[in-house]
Amino acid sequence: MALPKPHEADLVVIGAGPAGAAAALAASRAGLSVVLLDEAASPGGQVYRAPPAGLSVSPGKRGPDDDAGDALRAGIAASSVVWRGSARVWSVSGAFRVDAVTPSGNESFFAPRLVAATGAHERLVPFPGWTKPGVIGLAAATILLKSQGMIPGRRSVVAGCGPLLAAVAAKIVVAGGAVAAVVDLSGPGDWLRALPGLARRPDLLRQGLGWALKLGAARVPVLFRHGVVAVEGAEACERVVAAPVDTEGRPRGGSLRGFEADALAIGHGLVPGAEITKLLRARHHFDPAAGGWTPVRDAFGRCSVAGLYAVGDGAAVAGAEPARLSGQLAGLAAAHDAGRIPLEAFEREAASVRAGLARMSAFAGAVGRLMRPRPAMVEAIAPETVICRCEDVTRSEIETAIAEGARDINQLKHFTRCGMGPCQGRMCGETAAGLLALQVGSREEVGYWTGRPPLRPVPLADLLGRFDYGDIPVPTPAPL
Ligand SMILES: Cc1cc2nc3c(=O)[nH]c(=O)nc-3n(C[C@H](O)[C@H](O)[C@H](O)COP(=O)(O)OP(=O)(O)OC[C@H]3O[C@@H](n4cnc5c(N)ncnc54)[C@H](O)[C@@H]3O)c2cc1C
Repeated sequence: MALPKPHEADLVVIGAGPAGAAAALAASRAGLSVVLLDEAASPGGQVYRAPPAGLSVSPGKRGPDDDAGDALRAGIAASSVVWRGSARVWSVSGAFRVDAVTPSGNESFFAPRLVAATGAHERLVPFPGWTKPGVIGLAAATILLKSQGMIPGRRSVVAGCGPLLAAVAAKIVVAGGAVAAVVDLSGPGDWLRALPGLARRPDLLRQGLGWALKLGAARVPVLFRHGVVAVEGAEACERVVAAPVDTEGRPRGGSLRGFEADALAIGHGLVPGAEITKLLRARHHFDPAAGGWTPVRDAFGRCSVAGLYAVGDGAAVAGAEPARLSGQLAGLAAAHDAGRIPLEAFEREAASVRAGLARMSAFAGAVGRLMRPRPAMVEAIAPETVICRCEDVTRSEIETAIAEGARDINQLKHFTRCGMGPCQGRMCGETAAGLLALQVGSREEVGYWTGRPPLRPVPLADLLGRFDYGDIPVPTPAPL
């Protein structure tokens, strides 16, 4: 569908993962003009990420995610949704102007309604050596495997918590790499307790058991209730050291286990990427079960700012299928709010989606408990460990700032520059807030970083376009 006016639409959706794609499709089916923006070249998001042009997945290695991703992309292509890929949104303002750097330069999009569907980012609690080359995020490893067809190293350790552990380790084995060990913060008892919830999605449970069997066949050692305590190596990762931990992730003494490895893929859960709702000053609340600070929403994703909807893992970490259903609900709600779906039809359609979402909650809860934050890990960080790698801020510098009076996360940022680097605190934010919470009492009191543009690093040249310094008008000085 062509937009009524260039860059104007009834609805802009940011993020083309399962949540954003479903919102865009539901709204456009109801007659709204919809622009769907994503910094990736193709729709799909993290879980259904498309391989780049020229790199196809060989038939023997295709999994259910590849088929679901192809179906999502075909759905968008066949719809009237205006798809704009490689569009990096760096600012959202007013009600609503969306600025994105696209292959054509900086472009602004306008709509009275906006869906934020920007997904999650990783939580990674630092330890000595975590900034060495060869150490990457667990979820980041899925990107490497899916979008580049690459394994993290010749011999990898895979560590952290949650189902991504087995997924990444098994995919490395299938791709021909060696996995020295899987180091899991959870114990067998945690997995057994999660089983009834996981069994609510038999397809995913079967997939998980398939991964476990692959690891068993490759004789990969699995260390339950262990955490990585150090990465050693002169210049890069050469050896990963793991230690037994208690249920809260606190090292509890006992024998250390060292593994020769040139790569470590490690992650401690996911955090909602709620930067857009924070930027637009929507109300948020701290919900550990949903991954941390999340926008306050009604059952349809409506936020406290009129016309703003938040869906998927960017609003509450719950997984791909709940993300899709929450997106569908918000798309329907946007169309209803715009007067395109009468109340009765809206309620009828929404009821069946909401029933599907309710069926997912036991599964999402079980995964959420496996990936829950373990505050004791933050407590155990050594003083000289770097927390903010962009600005090189250590734990002891953070402690000094707290001793000097920093009481919330924004004060801490002003005192130390922690969170001011190119990642805008996505990497260090959780740990810095956790350290502060140990002193001030709770994450609620610590608060969250005030949303600020740019949401993503963008080159100034892309924002300014081509210009010559001689063309800049110099005002005549005022007479004295
Ligand atoms: C790195 C990573 C890898 C993951 N891999 C897997 C996996 O392999 N399997 C699995 O089951 N789950 C995976 N997950 C969890 C998974 O992301 C979710 O359960 C599911 O994809 C959530 O769907 P969503 O639509 O909410 O978000 P996503 O699928 O994350 O989609 C969000 C989209 O928003 C886009 N976006 C964000 N900010 C901007 C911006 N400023 N400008 C433009 N576009 C933007 C992103 O490019 C992305 O395509 C992963 C999570 C992460 C963080």
